[in-house]
Amino acid sequence: MQRTRIAEVLSSKKINGRFTLMGWVRTRRDSKAGFSFIELNDGSCADSIQLIADQKLSNYKNEIQRLTAGCSIKAVGTLVDSPGKGQKMELQVEEIEVLGWADPEIYPLQKKRHSFEFLRTIAHLRPRTNTFSAVARVRNAMSYAIHRFFQEKGFLYIHTPIITGSDCEGAGEMFKVTTLDLDQVPQSGGRADFGQDFFGTPASLTVSGQLEAEIYALAMGDVYTFGPTFRAEDSNTSRHLAEFWMVEPEMAFCDLEGNMDLATDFLKYIFAYVLDNCKKDMEFFNRFIDTSVIETLEELVSREFEYITYTEGIDILSKAKEDFEFPVSWGTDLQSEHERYLCEKVFGKPIILMDYPKEIKSFYMKVNKDGKTVRAMDVLVPKIGEIIGGSQREDDYDTLLDRIKEAGLNPDEYWWYLELRKFGSVPHSGFGLGFERLIQFVTGLSNIRDVIPFPRTPGNVSF
Ligand code: ATP
Ligand code: MN
Repeated sequence: MQRTRIAEVLSSKKINGRFTLMGWVRTRRDSKAGFSFIELNDGSCADSIQLIADQKLSNYKNEIQRLTAGCSIKAVGTLVDSPGKGQKMELQVEEIEVLGWADPEIYPLQKKRHSFEFLRTIAHLRPRTNTFSAVARVRNAMSYAIHRFFQEKGFLYIHTPIITGSDCEGAGEMFKVTTLDLDQVPQSGGRADFGQDFFGTPASLTVSGQLEAEIYALAMGDVYTFGPTFRAEDSNTSRHLAEFWMVEPEMAFCDLEGNMDLATDFLKYIFAYVLDNCKKDMEFFNRFIDTSVIETLEELVSREFEYITYTEGIDILSKAKEDFEFPVSWGTDLQSEHERYLCEKVFGKPIILMDYPKEIKSFYMKVNKDGKTVRAMDVLVPKIGEIIGGSQREDDYDTLLDRIKEAGLNPDEYWWYLELRKFGSVPHSGFGLGFERLIQFVTGLSNIRDVIPFPRTPGNVSF
């Protein structure tokens, strides 16, 4: 089957060229002059193309006039300048073949607009809507831009494992991986006997590739991972998924300042890439989802981010005349309401908050000279809050060992992580960026379930 994608046709200058198009009908209407106008979309771009089918076509009455939304067709014809409003070109059809019917009585995508809640229940059809096909194209472009950014900078792409035997960083609850018969779990001393399990020991889905990325950074310099991560936290929010994609660069010979520079370069690169390469889709989001997305991204590409310390942040928040649900004081973790207040009301742009109290951050973050704070940095953006969490890693063996014990973790399970600090330890840093939160920020979509093709959330794994 030979066909040309609509994206290619609409950008082609071959007026009067002959094309074979295949796609799904969005709408069809008849004109009094004996024509049928068909809007055809094939997902390759935001725009549909208009087909003009003349009543002289042999299957005009039997088939063409019966076409409704969702039917799939093949259309052969000539591309001509369009006299009508709203499109530059249209296809003068010579032949239409129906590939698949879609009964209008039961095809769910008849109306022009459906709620996102409803569309989530038909994840098998929602990519046929304008919004979800635009999200899929932007998500694709951003994935490509992520690899391009790191590859241009000489970073190596490392595949860290999805099944892990270590509790990584204690970041959220983990999903267990087992082949034990759950109706008859073998017992030993009153507990599940994982000795009889597939790996002979408890195993889980990874919550982060960071610790393994550190291994490769400490051999090869600059590396990154970009893959799925899993968190069984029961948080039904618009910013949390049970399965989400994370981008995690890790750099040897790099301190927190270098880490923050990379994070800002990275974000600016991705925003610029999307603005340059997803114009139509971004115009769509800007029109129908959030009328400030394009302007926001454009500003970010050229403006500096704001850098403040956690202590300064707490200072601002405790003086704020705002009714927070959660009170703030030095030592408490910031809630999303605080993060958003700082970004939206105080600075009006993304901020990088650094040097958090060590008690509220992970054991692997490097302790500052004050002994109270760690070299952590979170990138916070308006409307969403945290999109990046990063740090300089503790590279001193004894300090790390103390921190592991303080965190209530078993040093034996981190023997290899500790050994990296025994043999040729170097300052190193990295961060984790939630890919879906970045897509939310770029598209303006307020619910994270709408920026991943098949969202996994508490109680929902059906599609
Ligand atoms: P939060 O406090 O917002 O739940 P976190 O501090 O637990 O996030 P990290 O462990 O720092 O998250 O993970 C790094 C990044 O991964 C976060 O900055 C965020 O962008 C993203 N992220 C974390 N948890 C989720 C989730 N459940 N769904 C989607 N993205 C997530
Ligand atoms: Mn975090």
